Amino acid sequence: MKKQFAVIGLGRFGGSICQSLVKQGMEVLAIDISEDKINKYANIATHAVIADSTDEDTLKSLGIRNFDHVIVAIGDNIQSSILTTLMLVEQGVRHITVKAQNDYHEKVLNKIGAHKVVHPERDMGVRIAHNIVSKNVLDY
Ligand code: ATP
Repeated sequence: MKKQFAVIGLGRFGGSICQSLVKQGMEVLAIDISEDKINKYANIATHAVIADSTDEDTLKSLGIRNFDHVIVAIGDNIQSSILTTLMLVEQGVRHITVKAQNDYHEKVLNKIGAHKVVHPERDMGVRIAHNIVSKNVLDY
């Protein structure tokens, strides 16, 4: 059976994750509070719904606990990101990946039980720097 993913928050990061998962043949439920974002992803994601992920009943009615992996890509609103993550943990989601905005955010996300925390800008900076160094080493 195909793996079921849910992406909450369709900014540049969440949107790119959503598109990439679909390209890899995965089933993706896209969730965003903004109607514009949902309209944009309606033809890309397997399903797209306008919803506030900080609402526990909404998450339950979407059957979020049955998804294999949920990605929380709410960056700016740290409170919403933390609350959403906490409810996903409480509902027993098996794999939860969350985008952190800063080190404090990351610390809280780890404490409340996020399985993986990513800092896209920082992580990509580290990768690119390694890449530059290893390329230079080969060049010399
Ligand atoms: P990026 O840096 O990835 O481009 P962004 O700055 O465009 O992110 P953010 O404000 O970090 O956007 O939020 C990402 C998305 O999360 C937005 O599309 C926003 O509508 C959505 N979002 C914010 N709060 C909620 C919420 N409570 N429930 C669902 N979606 C939300």
